[in-house]
Amino acid sequence: MYEYVCQECGQGTVREKTVRSYKTKIKGYPFVVREATIGVCDKCQAEHFAAQETKRWEELFYQSLVKDKLFLLPEDIQRVRKALGLSMEDFALLIGCTRQSLYNWEKDDRTHPQSRIADLLIKLVEKSHSEGNVDVIGFLVKETEKVGISLHVAEQPKVMSGIQEQVIQTYIDARGRVAKAYDDYADSQAPVSRAMELLITEAVKSRASEVHLEPQKDRLIVRFRIEDILHDVMSLPLSVAPPLVSRIKILANMNVADSHYPQHGQINFKAEEEKIDIRVVTSSAKYGERVGLHLLSESFPSPALGEHMKISRRSR
Ligand SMILES: [Zn+2]
Repeated sequence: MYEYVCQECGQGTVREKTVRSYKTKIKGYPFVVREATIGVCDKCQAEHFAAQETKRWEELFYQSLVKDKLFLLPEDIQRVRKALGLSMEDFALLIGCTRQSLYNWEKDDRTHPQSRIADLLIKLVEKSHSEGNVDVIGFLVKETEKVGISLHVAEQPKVMSGIQEQVIQTYIDARGRVAKAYDDYADSQAPVSRAMELLITEAVKSRASEVHLEPQKDRLIVRFRIEDILHDVMSLPLSVAPPLVSRIKILANMNVADSHYPQHGQINFKAEEEKIDIRVVTSSAKYGERVGLHLLSESFPSPALGEHMKISRRSR
């Protein structure tokens, strides 16, 4: 309960009051708060609002949009993103939000839904993806009606087709750029990922139970543990260590940026029918990060199977 001198009239006292079905506007949209707490001056009747309380109303507003299905649900956002074939990161780039925001919106038990503007943009992307040309203004007017505002656009402006074209062109450009960036990234990773595959294939062929990557002063030493004995099997230029280690960490869902603290991860390695669990352990050492790969398999595939091996990133 609060009580203070009214700043409007300077005479009355503002007292806390609970109002049922309080009509207000949230971000300009009409909204009724079932039970609102406001401050009212006993002299001039001016209403006062606590920041904490208006923030709660805003949350209620967004919740009501979700409840009334006016907002895309987590699975809807995921569906749109997947239809475009974009990763969370690339979709975030496309619609101009952060990866973290998108991650939160796509969570089944999300606590905050997307903003209205992000919701509209994703809906627009979805519509343009499924229908091609979109009457953007018509679409936005309809969406606005859903939250209780009716707008009259005087005339279907001639410029609209121009706007549509622009929006769609921008969208296609962005998609193209994202796809190109992704290809470039995949290309840059190709030699490293092949090296990684060869290494594991070699280890499996040798029936090794462990692979160790140990950076020395000027070489990266690769050791296999075969029947409990560690063998030096490769000596590589030290320059291959950072990309190789990063690649392994990405595959194992580890934090690539952190090379200081020991990390644990897992990679699922597929060989036709055979699945091999690779437990990954990293630790920092004098000349760089050391990596230990523990290959776990009940029965190792026959050496010939090694030719068909593919590494797949473990799904989160
Ligand atoms: Zn007053």
